[in-house]
Amino acid sequence: MTEFFNQVSRRKFIITAGASAGAVFLKGCLGNPPEDVGSGGTTQAAAQPVANISPEQKPETTTVKLGYIPIVEAAPLIIAKEKGLFAKHGMNVELAKQASWGAARDNLEIGSAGGGIDGGQWQMPMPHLITEGLITKGNQKIPMYVLCQLITHGNGIAIANKHQGKGISLQLASAKSIFTQLKSSTPFTAAFTFPHVNQDLWIRYWLAAGGIDPDADVKLLTVPAAQTVANMKTGTMDAFSTGDPWPFRIVKDKIGYMAALTAEIWKNHPEEYLAIRADWVDKHPKATKAILKGIMEAQQWLDNFDNRKEAAQILAARNYFNLPSPEILADPYQGKYDMGDGRKIDDKTMAAYYWKDEKGSVSYPYKSHDLWFITENVRWGFLPKDYIANNAAKAKELIDKVNREDIWKEAAQELGIAAADIPTNTSRGVEEFFDGSKFDPEKPEEYLKSLKIKKVSV
Ligand code: CA
Repeated sequence: MTEFFNQVSRRKFIITAGASAGAVFLKGCLGNPPEDVGSGGTTQAAAQPVANISPEQKPETTTVKLGYIPIVEAAPLIIAKEKGLFAKHGMNVELAKQASWGAARDNLEIGSAGGGIDGGQWQMPMPHLITEGLITKGNQKIPMYVLCQLITHGNGIAIANKHQGKGISLQLASAKSIFTQLKSSTPFTAAFTFPHVNQDLWIRYWLAAGGIDPDADVKLLTVPAAQTVANMKTGTMDAFSTGDPWPFRIVKDKIGYMAALTAEIWKNHPEEYLAIRADWVDKHPKATKAILKGIMEAQQWLDNFDNRKEAAQILAARNYFNLPSPEILADPYQGKYDMGDGRKIDDKTMAAYYWKDEKGSVSYPYKSHDLWFITENVRWGFLPKDYIANNAAKAKELIDKVNREDIWKEAAQELGIAAADIPTNTSRGVEEFFDGSKFDPEKPEEYLKSLKIKKVSV
């Protein structure tokens, strides 16, 4: 409760402080906003809503408040706003930078009427966990709808420079003894920004595939991004799982190197999503579609690599990511990664994609991906086994409630998206990982059985 009230009072302070709020963020490590201060950094409208919208599509409200975290996943929200794409569809979207994922969750609980947010950018399966009341204060159930995926790729696992040359890379076979040695003194310590979701799951998947038990052989904990980088510098943190621009900055500042990109762990993997409170969407179905249309257009704009220099400039600005230079985003945005250990990746298919990738739609929220995130939560004992029993009946019931691919489709049709770009199947089919493991969404229990390292017994 203390954390909750701190967040509320800090947020109020920052709103009261108004224009000076930006100055608070300047103190962050490497010039980035620290993640342990309250929410703030609200950005006012760049463009006013236009009026030439058909009466059938006219939104019920013109305002909504969406939260974001300053990493490349947020780009479709920021570009839609800055390029006037929300306004084009009649929406004046207020974007509110969130100090941390915990703050985003707290602000969602409050809702915009209470000074919080209506929805925004989420790691998975946060919307499902919030809907179930599993990560909220007092286990309050706050139904949410997942409306689109924001991005694929753009994430990675950084390792402190003191481990250079020890074989801690995508494949861990030759590094196993390092983890064993450290276990008897100070265990290998790795951080992520919120438990049980993407970043935690990526690092767990990578370790387990290399024969390292994330629950027994290492220490995993939640630490804000800026704090983690500081700890890696001083040598008290060994690894960090997060999104661009952080991995790139860790290499540039010679703090660490990249063991793996998530694009290497699982090519074209699901990453972060847009989700909004169900009560807001139910009350404003047309406004929801207007928001989606703005995001879809921004995603298409972002996937034109000629636009990415401009995108990097917009995102790096002080009111968004507050980066020392847009150059930090420029190379990764072209699929160029200096991994910091002598390895260089120059492959456009490894870059972040927002609208389409090699497997088809990025934006479409496939239910089979929600199921993977829930299955992985069962794997590590974060969710009880009954979610996956009886061919995942309970997981599927939850996904059917939360995942609103139907709204995505309606918005895409109204926007005039070509039929070929609107998936007809809610499953993307069998997924394959770097270690050869396969996830068949029709048989999640088989997937769990096939994995050697796991907490659940199946
Ligand atoms: Ca991420």
